[in-house]
Amino acid sequence: MSGVNASGWRPTMKEAGGEGTGAPTASGDRALMLEEPLIFELGSEGKCGVDLDTPARKPASGLAKFLRKAAPALPGLTEPETVRHYTRLSRQNYGIDLGPFPLGSCTMKHNPRLNEKMARLPGFADVHPLQPQKTIEGALEVIEQLADWLIKLTGMASVAMSPKAGAHGELCGLLCIRAALDARGESRDIVLVPESAHGTNPATAAFAGFKVQSIPATPDGRVDLEALKAKLGPDVAGVMITNPNTCGLFEPDMKAIADAVHAVGGYVYCDGANFNAIVGRVRPGDLGVDAMHINLHKTFSTPHGGGGPGAGPVVLSEALAPYAPLPFVTRGADGAIHLVEEENRGEGHQSAFGRMVAFHGQMGMFTRALTYILSHGNDGLKQVAEDAVLNANYILRSCDDLLEAPFGKSGPCMHEALFSDAGLADGLSTLDIAKGLIDEGFHPMTVYFPLVVKGAMLVEPTETESKAGLDRFIGSLRSLAERAKAGDESLHEAPFFAPRRRLDETRAARKPVLVWKDASAES
Ligand SMILES: *Cc1c(COP(=O)(O)O)cnc(C)c1O
Repeated sequence: MSGVNASGWRPTMKEAGGEGTGAPTASGDRALMLEEPLIFELGSEGKCGVDLDTPARKPASGLAKFLRKAAPALPGLTEPETVRHYTRLSRQNYGIDLGPFPLGSCTMKHNPRLNEKMARLPGFADVHPLQPQKTIEGALEVIEQLADWLIKLTGMASVAMSPKAGAHGELCGLLCIRAALDARGESRDIVLVPESAHGTNPATAAFAGFKVQSIPATPDGRVDLEALKAKLGPDVAGVMITNPNTCGLFEPDMKAIADAVHAVGGYVYCDGANFNAIVGRVRPGDLGVDAMHINLHKTFSTPHGGGGPGAGPVVLSEALAPYAPLPFVTRGADGAIHLVEEENRGEGHQSAFGRMVAFHGQMGMFTRALTYILSHGNDGLKQVAEDAVLNANYILRSCDDLLEAPFGKSGPCMHEALFSDAGLADGLSTLDIAKGLIDEGFHPMTVYFPLVVKGAMLVEPTETESKAGLDRFIGSLRSLAERAKAGDESLHEAPFFAPRRRLDETRAARKPVLVWKDASAES
């Protein structure tokens, strides 16, 4: 198959990123980087990868009226064509197994292969959620052991394991708060959220039926304690605070914030997405937190993004533990683990809001996270936090002479380094640096988040990058910063070397083309 697709389009050398380096190739491919049409443009009618007998035309059952009148519009491809198609596409993708993925807030760390091996053991991989309990005791033990680690690492009273992502955990935590308020006969409806919060925080609060009020930040990027106190009152159900926050900074007033919120009868939700920076070093329970989700896929290295589903268990304080959703695992007096699925939970447990999910949560992610925890141990987990913070500070201090670091003067950062586009030449922006990084062979950092910093660039290396790897990244980032400060307009055109050049993102967002049309059929 050549690089000419069905609609006759073939990338020119300019579009293919090779302007000035010679004539376009006949195939449209560039060396071993292959152009690949859509699968519908590739396949031809009547071709089939398997040799099937012609089916009998008359089905014996009463389903005859559902018989297709025409062949399904599936692309006809042989097996080798199919394998090549997807392998070629996979080469145009970028993943954590290829190189650094410095997306701030997302914690893209290496996924250890031992985790994968454990998760694939048939006793974990092949269990069915409706199997009788006595046939899945090992799987329940994994859930219970992981729950125990999460409770101990956070210093909390209990944990709801079933939420399937960070945002889902936020919802679970706020529903627990709502249930606790209901039990007190109170209808408080305000949740306070800092300006710098991840978008999921206000969205979750609104979804759970609360009104969101925003808390301003201090000039050094932290929650303004006095401004927060001024908003506290009998209508405040609670606060949602991210710690370390989305500027990559520790909130030193966390305990004072929690005390003030508790004093007016509210609850403290902590967004624990950044737990990676403090795991083994700080127990959020000691800071007065009532509920906090843990993104297993961030802190405990289970694959995410394109690589797999998330998991967002929520740890709960004594005050909220009775309102945890079903189901949960407990260890009975006999030492055996029980899965509690019924609404009747015994003494101390109130009837709350039921379930977050149909079954028990993400078994594969539980197994991976527990493997990660056990293979690191107490001391190893502490080192995870220390190395993540060290790596981020190395990047911050290696670039802050060239790139503006808005909070760099207020001391070291936690697990992510925050820069802004202040100081770049007129017309050059964060987007140009991000696109330039693609040419340099790196996935861009998080851009334009947090919103409190104009032109934000949030870089999170995680603990799994080596010093040599960080130095390469720093070399590229510095080179781009120098070009952007010197007014190198060519950066507007980056990326030059990617399979596709810079996209018209506004048009893509405003006029998305979501359905493929067969151009050859129309003409
Ligand atoms: C990732 C993240 C979330 C949401 O977690 P998901 O697992 O993606 O739903 C919430 N808050 C912060 C600060 C995050 O970084």
